[in-house]
Amino acid sequence: MSDNLFDQLTRSITDLEAPAIETESGTLSYAALIARTGQIANALEIGPGDRVAVQIEKSVDAILLYLATVRAGGVFLPLNTGYTAAEVAYFLGDAAPAVFVCDPAQLDVLRPVAKAAGARIETLDTQGGGSLGVAIAAASAAFDTVARGTDDLAALLYTSGTTGRSKGAMLSHGNLLSNTRALQDAWRFSASDVLIHALPVFHTHGLFVATNVTLFSGASMILLPKFDPARILALMARATVLMGVPTFYVRLLDQPGLSRDAVENMRLFVSGSAPLLEETHRSWQERTGHAILERYGMTETNMNVSNPYDGDRVAGTVGQPLPGVEVIVTDPASGAELPQGEIGMIEVRGPNVFQGYWQMPEKTAEELRANGFFITGDLGRYDDRGYLQIVGRGKDLIISGGFNVYPKEVEAEIDAIPGVFESAVIGLPHRDLGEAVTAVVVTNARPAPDEAAILMALHDRLAKFKQPKRVLFVEELPRNTMGKVQKTRCARRMGICTP
Ligand code: ATP
Ligand code: MG
Repeated sequence: MSDNLFDQLTRSITDLEAPAIETESGTLSYAALIARTGQIANALEIGPGDRVAVQIEKSVDAILLYLATVRAGGVFLPLNTGYTAAEVAYFLGDAAPAVFVCDPAQLDVLRPVAKAAGARIETLDTQGGGSLGVAIAAASAAFDTVARGTDDLAALLYTSGTTGRSKGAMLSHGNLLSNTRALQDAWRFSASDVLIHALPVFHTHGLFVATNVTLFSGASMILLPKFDPARILALMARATVLMGVPTFYVRLLDQPGLSRDAVENMRLFVSGSAPLLEETHRSWQERTGHAILERYGMTETNMNVSNPYDGDRVAGTVGQPLPGVEVIVTDPASGAELPQGEIGMIEVRGPNVFQGYWQMPEKTAEELRANGFFITGDLGRYDDRGYLQIVGRGKDLIISGGFNVYPKEVEAEIDAIPGVFESAVIGLPHRDLGEAVTAVVVTNARPAPDEAAILMALHDRLAKFKQPKRVLFVEELPRNTMGKVQKTRCARRMGICTP
């Protein structure tokens, strides 16, 4: 047995006939999962280190392609299904994969893109059809997992591109395994767990956190093609864990059937990838009796910090560092560690931290210190109980008239105003101030508060330099597929702030 992640994930499975992945069309046992990854590994015809880029709809095979690539010693590169041909061209050009697997419906559009990148193109649909599907069906299930070391690459995962162009994070077998172990332990996963999997599988949350922890525990997952609140609510009767982004919880709260009885079988609700509003945390607890467990991670590191399984899960915080992961808050200018309570840059070190950005040595050198700490780009502070609060991204910090304004602090005050559903606070270019604090607000009551009402409500709550110069109203905030508010898009849409 080698350090290949596939061996490590499957080695403790004791019951091969147990269900691994359930979908509407049937259930795949662990034995069947192992056999089909063998077939896929044979059909891929790749060598160690070869990148396998994949842009296909969420399906059992989308997950098995990941496992099979890793098993064959390759490097898995999943792509957001929303990416256009021009975007795919960037990723294929950057990563130079040996194979590119796409949906048969996209073949004509993507064939020239794959050709230009020198990749062999294959197709696979959600029913096992397509050129790769045919090759898989004809392939033998016997496959000797390729030996890999802990530092060998298992995946090249591009960041979500919330703050700029996506960067390829190089993740090793050891990176992924260490985090799987830490999370299994922290969240008490066992073979009796049934996970509701409604996240996309091209992102660290749905691909690594959800899949790796489930398989490593010999648990099972119910794979949903997309987020469907009514269906999730119905499944809770026989599931035990849900992993979601904050919007999942907001939209589940709109389901009239959500109650203590409906979640009786559930033991854990996890949230991450974007900040969970304190109000959502509170409402969820009132309706279901469960405190959502919020955690913090990113493509480059997997998960770093988590609220406790036992003990208080504190709204507005992401909890404490996972075992084996060091998380410090530093002065962005000097890099010196700051005392508890002060806001600074969050830095992370541990076996989960990636190997660097693919073909971006300068960027890697800027963000990965020689002493092993990764500069996350997120600002945060430790509260007096040692829980980490994420204040926001360094890039979102507004400097108005020379003063630092942390958007989250202003957003929290605005969100507390009756009639406000949510808000995004951004800095727009301003002639005198450099940047003007600008609030973009979504209301949810009639009559809705207007600009004057919001400014009035903030008057005694925030120092003058933090108060918005303008309040703009939108139907909804722009979000990417992971539910993250895209502040740059917000700002681009709003233009220049001229109060
Ligand atoms: P890019 O790096 O390309 O701009 P991205 O940072 O959104 O995109 P991801 O790696 O998918 O790409 O997201 C990680 C980021 O998501 C974190 O750095 C952090 O800003 C945010 N995040 C994750 N979990 C939480 C959380 N619980 N609360 C607040 N923010 C979170
Ligand atoms: Mg990032």
